[in-house]
Amino acid sequence: MFQGRRQESADKNRNLPLPIKDLDAVVLSHAHIDHSGRLPYLIAEGYAKTIWATSATRDLAAIMLADSAHIQERDAEFLAKRKKEFIEPLYGLRHAVRTMDLMVGVPYNKPFDVVPGVTATYVDAGHILGSASVVLDCTENGKTKRLVFSGDIGRSGLAIIRDPVPPEGADALIMESTYGNRDHESVEGARARLAQVIRETAARGGRILIPAFAVGRTQEMIYSLHALVKEGAIPSIPIYVDSPLAIDTTTVFEMHPEIFDKSEEMVVKAQELFRFELLRYTRDVEESKALSRARGPMIIIAASGMMENGRIVHHLAQGANDPRNTILVVGFQAEHTLGRRVVERRPVIQIFGEDVQLNARVEIINGYSAHADRTELATWLGRVKEKSPKLGPIWLVHGEPLAQDELKTTLRAKGYSAECPEPRTTHVF
Ligand SMILES: [Zn+2]
Ligand SMILES: [Zn+2]
Repeated sequence: MFQGRRQESADKNRNLPLPIKDLDAVVLSHAHIDHSGRLPYLIAEGYAKTIWATSATRDLAAIMLADSAHIQERDAEFLAKRKKEFIEPLYGLRHAVRTMDLMVGVPYNKPFDVVPGVTATYVDAGHILGSASVVLDCTENGKTKRLVFSGDIGRSGLAIIRDPVPPEGADALIMESTYGNRDHESVEGARARLAQVIRETAARGGRILIPAFAVGRTQEMIYSLHALVKEGAIPSIPIYVDSPLAIDTTTVFEMHPEIFDKSEEMVVKAQELFRFELLRYTRDVEESKALSRARGPMIIIAASGMMENGRIVHHLAQGANDPRNTILVVGFQAEHTLGRRVVERRPVIQIFGEDVQLNARVEIINGYSAHADRTELATWLGRVKEKSPKLGPIWLVHGEPLAQDELKTTLRAKGYSAECPEPRTTHVF
């Protein structure tokens, strides 16, 4: 699903890459909305075959797609009321529900038949709960070739989430390139910076506003804050997770300890991971509004991650002009989003159509990224290559053009045959 400029993304989202009747199955890599968000649209357009996913992805998708349907419907309503613009929502709740009827959860590392001649296996991509790289064994005229789709590639050392498992025996590879031109700070460095930002903001009497994706990033933040509280590294100020979606997602995490990375001692005590004394979950709208009126330092984690919608927008509308506050950016901010403008530290930002002075401090910690950076992408690929003697073409996808292009240059210098394919082109291997 495309997000960003409304009209542009609406057009892109309605434009399917191939006719529904030509689609035999869908194999989903993970639940993030840029990957799963258009599934209900497929259903609205008549798709009625199987959608494959890992079990945790299926559970996450159930709540995320319902939420996405609400957002579509609410946006359409808002435009009709305020601007007298009438757009059909991309899909509704009934399509999200029907999507879940068609979605089948399968375990990691167990091959399953997608359609005759195509077998798939999910291996851990280490990106978010349930995320996978997809290994497709395609047999035609008695010959089998292996096509690997990387999915979104995660990082080693992330809390809770297991490390990526690079697939083996690939003949060709479709690979993501989101951070193909940048390196992140280390995972450990991120937690230390987080503690520092909280201490400084609390000392000013301000609040720390953390826009975070409800799925993955929020749980990672809760876990880090829990660890910092235990270590006594941050002052005892209230922490609010102000997002119903994040609350539901946290429950899904608690349902899947079987796929947690158990290398950190704290993770082993799974029941308590996401619950501790200073932490409050606010589901109710009134409770959320009351936060704006509350005084004193506090931490508020709310969606959406790119500040485009969700409760974080209300907190920014109230708090972005206060120099005591900190807006703490812990995730990727795409072009044409409010988040990108905050990261660029524009002096004035537009929220709900009003000008707001951006006086709050803006701190960026990119060590929480769930995406492999330039170096980690090359490392992952190196490990794929080691166990794939016949690796041929590598097609780079899922990155802004600049990131894609720079990664292509880097990989070619290492001797790979990397390409940035145009959408809707056919490639043979
Ligand atoms: Zn993702
Ligand atoms: Zn993605």
